[in-house]
Amino acid sequence: MRAVTLTGLGRLEVVEASVPRSRPGWSVVQVLACGICGTDRHILHGDYPARPPLILGHEFGGLLHEPGPDCPLPAGSMVSVDPNICCGDCWQCRDGSPALCAERIALGVDIDGGLAQYVLVPDTQLYRVPQHVDPLQLAFVEPLACCLRAIDLAGEMSGARVAVVGGGVIGQLVVQLARNAGASTITLVTRQPFRQELGRSMGATWSGDMADRPSRDHDLVFECAGVPGTMTDSLDLARPGGSVILLGITGRDHLQSVSPFDLVVRELRLQGSFLNPRTQSRAVQLIADGTLNLDPLATRIVGWDEVVDGIRATPGPTDIKVILQPSA
Ligand SMILES: [Zn+2]
Ligand SMILES: [Zn+2]
Repeated sequence: MRAVTLTGLGRLEVVEASVPRSRPGWSVVQVLACGICGTDRHILHGDYPARPPLILGHEFGGLLHEPGPDCPLPAGSMVSVDPNICCGDCWQCRDGSPALCAERIALGVDIDGGLAQYVLVPDTQLYRVPQHVDPLQLAFVEPLACCLRAIDLAGEMSGARVAVVGGGVIGQLVVQLARNAGASTITLVTRQPFRQELGRSMGATWSGDMADRPSRDHDLVFECAGVPGTMTDSLDLARPGGSVILLGITGRDHLQSVSPFDLVVRELRLQGSFLNPRTQSRAVQLIADGTLNLDPLATRIVGWDEVVDGIRATPGPTDIKVILQPSA
């Protein structure tokens, strides 16, 4: 089979690998779609810890090809995969915060992932998807589940004035979730006109750049860009007493200065949101229900010839989500 393999720091190639075999507790999934994500680029450049040699890809789903002996699902089932495998036994896991598990490993980060024709997955990570779902949408389940985590952490959304900083896939999904959850206004801050317009079609009531002077009275601000400066922009957009939820992942060593004085006298809440604890099945449900507008977000479908470039290249303003279709 073909697979996108990180062979060393900064080295990425499509290699011929052997198809994995199922074993007790583990099943083989034939990948139908795998999203490429900023995290893959961070891994490639050593900004996010990973262990080569490694097949990348953590936003994927497909068909159950060879169920393991204990797998409750029949062969041929459409499945989404939660790539984050937690121990289930440590204090954080038992306390209901599996994303913070110290023993956590992830498909596509620590062990082989879904940028391949087939992938070996623990049965615990499989979520059945109704067969009517467009296979390309399987690439959105994990990013959507991460957004649902942020929405869970944010608190009351109904009637809230919401700001979203960053117009990539995460920002566009949060705009839709905020709209569906009854936010009264949704401000999308992004530099790119294409992304501003896309955001308005997704439910943003205002979109523009920081230079366009968005209002600063937001109850909830979602930082979805993860680039230098956007955390302070997010704090600027919050009303006194407001909350800023950080989902964007910056490089590990990136530092950003904030004013502790401002945090105190405006009683701002700064909340990190990491991964997708207990949100994967809701993400599957939302996608199966068809209430989200995902097609305009799948801006580029690539095959094996273009996939390495798709990971390496800095996304252009019109690239929202690049998806590998292994059969393409
Ligand atoms: Zn990702
Ligand atoms: Zn644990």
